[in-house]
Amino acid sequence: MAKDPERGFDDDDVQFLGVESINQDLFDRQKRLKGWDQEKIRTSTVLVVGAGATGNELVKNLTLMGIGKIYLVDFDNVDRSNLNRCVFFKESDVGKTQFKANIVARNAMEYGRTKIVPIIGKIEDLKEEIYKECNATASCLDNVEARLHVNSYSYFYDLPFVDSGIDGWYGSIFCVIPQVRDSPCIQCGMSSQDLDNMFKKFSCTGQEIAKEEGFTEMKMANIITTTSIIGALQAQQIVKILLGLDSFKKDGTWNEKVGPPVIGKELRYDGTRNSFTFIEKMKNPSCWVCSTKK
Ligand SMILES: [Zn+2]
Repeated sequence: MAKDPERGFDDDDVQFLGVESINQDLFDRQKRLKGWDQEKIRTSTVLVVGAGATGNELVKNLTLMGIGKIYLVDFDNVDRSNLNRCVFFKESDVGKTQFKANIVARNAMEYGRTKIVPIIGKIEDLKEEIYKECNATASCLDNVEARLHVNSYSYFYDLPFVDSGIDGWYGSIFCVIPQVRDSPCIQCGMSSQDLDNMFKKFSCTGQEIAKEEGFTEMKMANIITTTSIIGALQAQQIVKILLGLDSFKKDGTWNEKVGPPVIGKELRYDGTRNSFTFIEKMKNPSCWVCSTKK
C-alpha cells in the first residue's frame, strides 16, 4: 500500500507503544509529577472537619487524587441554599435527615478510590483514636471554637493541620505543622480580645453575627469559585505535607521536587483584587497549645 504522500506513512505503520497501559492507569498523569508518591497518598488518612462548601471541594480533590481514607465530621443537614456551591449535593439530598457528611461520603465513594467514614456530630465529641489513625487534619469550618479545637488536638497528636476560611470573594488557608517547632499555631494569634469576640460570635471580617440576647443568625456570602480556589489550595497543602513530611522529619528538608508547604504565614486570596498575599504569623512563646510541647 502506498504511503500517504503528505505524511509519508500510513496509520497502519504507527505503533502506539505502551499507550494503552498509560491511559489505563488511573493516576498516570499525577505520577508523572517529580517527587510524587502514589503509594504514600494511597496509604494516607486525613481527618476533614466540615462537609459544607469547602469540605465538598476538599474531599473531591483528595478523592480524585486517591487518598486512602477520609474521616469526615459534620453534624449539619443539607439545605437548598447549599446547592449553589456544593459539588456532591443535589436537589434530592435536601432534607432534615440528609446529613452533609453522609451525602458527601456516599457520592465521593462512587469514584471507588477513597474510603470515607462519615461522622455525624460535633468535632468536640470525636473519639481520640481517630486522631491517632490520621496523617493530617483539615478544617473547613465557619466558627472559631471548632477550629481551635482541631488546632489543639492536631498539635497534641503531632498531626499537620490545614485550616481554611471563606468570606464571599475572600478566602484564606493556614498550615500548622507541629514538626516545625518554631512555627505558630492558630491559638498563637488569638488575643484576649479575639477570645472575647469569639464568644460574642463575630464573623471573620469582624461583623457581629449574634447579639447577647435573641440570637440572630447571619449567614455569610459564599460562591463556588472562591470555595473551589480555597479548597484546592487546602488540598494542595495537605498533599505537599504528606509527600514531604517524612523527609522533613529525617533531615529537616522538604521533598525537593514538591516544595515545602506554606509555613508560618496565612495565605490570603482576594477575589476583588485578583490577588494572593502572605500574612506573617508569629509564634506566641506562651501559647498554651504549641509552646508547652518539646
Ligand atoms: Zn500556638
